[in-house]
Amino acid sequence: MASRTGLLIVYTGNGKGKSTAAFGLVMRAWGRGMQVCVVQFVKSSTGKWGEVRAAKKMGIPWHITGEGFTWKSKDLNHSRALAEEGWNLARKCIASGEYDLVVLDEFTYPLKFGWLDTDQVLNFLAQRPAHVHVVVTGRDAPTALVEAADLVTEMRKIKHPYDRGLKAQPGIEF
Ligand code: ATP
Ligand code: MG
Repeated sequence: MASRTGLLIVYTGNGKGKSTAAFGLVMRAWGRGMQVCVVQFVKSSTGKWGEVRAAKKMGIPWHITGEGFTWKSKDLNHSRALAEEGWNLARKCIASGEYDLVVLDEFTYPLKFGWLDTDQVLNFLAQRPAHVHVVVTGRDAPTALVEAADLVTEMRKIKHPYDRGLKAQPGIEF
């Protein structure tokens, strides 16, 4: 048995809390003096997000790679190119061995939409430096990812304030 300690962690499901759980780990690891890094796959890079502001203050590398790419995007070639660009960056962060924890936020979507090949991604992750923890967030985690992971938690919605018309608010949603 290899002496791998780095975990592949997946936070999935329809309930709120996937990304915040991942960012909670970032804070915990950072507090331990560990090297951490975040790559986000579906977010606009307005920089107004509370977590991005915090990362700046904490000196945590935070890459936003999916500008304008969402599941609503009409331009699939563009979305695919952005996903590949983000994955190339993520691969560098992971393979360098420089980081103890790498978060791939909203990474299930490029897998789900076939912009990246899940088997190739999993092959790469299986060969990463043994100490590197990788955290993947997003709804609809592919079965192969769930099977390959060491820790999988499904967030299940019981209630969400959106249901009664409350808008997203600072410190909670962004
Ligand atoms: P968070 O970033 O707050 O941890 P998340 O990563 O679990 O949320 P995403 O699927 O990335 O959830 O959705 C991002 C945004 O959508 C969040 O602002 C969140 O409040 C909202 N959201 C998440 N789940 C639900 C839901 N079941 N119904 C309505 N809105 C939701
Ligand atoms: Mg999220």
